[in-house]
Amino acid sequence: MATRLYTHPIFLEHITPPGHPERPDRLRAIERVLDDEAFAALDRVEAPQGDEATILYAHPADFVARVRAAIPDEGIARIDADTTASPKSWQAVITAIGAANAAVDDVFAGRADNVFVAARPPGHHAEKTTAMGFCFFNTAAIAARYAQKKHGAERVAVVDWDVHHGNGTQDIFWDDPSVLYCSTHQMPLYPGTGAKSETGAGNIVNAPLAPRTGSEVFRDAFLSRVLPALDNFAPDLIVISAGFDAHHRDPLAEINLTEDDFDWATGQLMQRAAIHGGNRLVSLLEGGYDLQGLAFSVAAHVGRLMKG
Ligand SMILES: [Zn+2]
Repeated sequence: MATRLYTHPIFLEHITPPGHPERPDRLRAIERVLDDEAFAALDRVEAPQGDEATILYAHPADFVARVRAAIPDEGIARIDADTTASPKSWQAVITAIGAANAAVDDVFAGRADNVFVAARPPGHHAEKTTAMGFCFFNTAAIAARYAQKKHGAERVAVVDWDVHHGNGTQDIFWDDPSVLYCSTHQMPLYPGTGAKSETGAGNIVNAPLAPRTGSEVFRDAFLSRVLPALDNFAPDLIVISAGFDAHHRDPLAEINLTEDDFDWATGQLMQRAAIHGGNRLVSLLEGGYDLQGLAFSVAAHVGRLMKG
């Protein structure tokens, strides 16, 4: 078995306005770095068409219809202050969900050791009924519920190391103790949620990081809060909301991680997946806006996944 990589050309056709940080070049930078022969053993698969009905696992139908109606026939339409849609955005969003769900299928069927999904737009800011922060629907939340509905997973953990708090994922699972949500993120920073005191049904573990901290504080948060919560919860599947905007080069935040930190954190989560969940681990790209920082971080992350 190998590490599987899902991506698709449609992800380049979700167009954002000039100067927008969440841009197609992000995926081109990832494709370029994974072209290196060090990644020759990756099992590269084109993302399948998603099943739109699975969006309803995390969002109500009237909200889904509202988002769909906002997709323009031409040009760019504004969804919220920093979230925009272009004509192909719907197809990109549905394919991102299709890839995440297929990744869940793969790890439960034993077709892959683990999977990285290089897709855009991201998802972790999408709340039950709000598209925001570059996100339309919450791909990680849909994948977690998909694992429960299609594969009988009882406990799914979503670990979110994007530098922004995943308010959407927290919102969706706030009163659902069958899903553990753990997040490390800079605070204060957009979107403003993610205090330690936000604990949901005891299934939300927030580990806020002060601005201008780095590796030591991040690893301590992982060791003292995230990993013990995972060991206590014993998930059948770990989904990573893998944003790489806590990298020191990133323009949207002030946390100073290096690619070595993402390598390390990946290894820690692989160990937990081995202990509790038959190695089942699915990683979904979220943020990361400096092209070099993003590419090097993804290389470290995927390189670690491939070491098995
Ligand atoms: Zn982010």
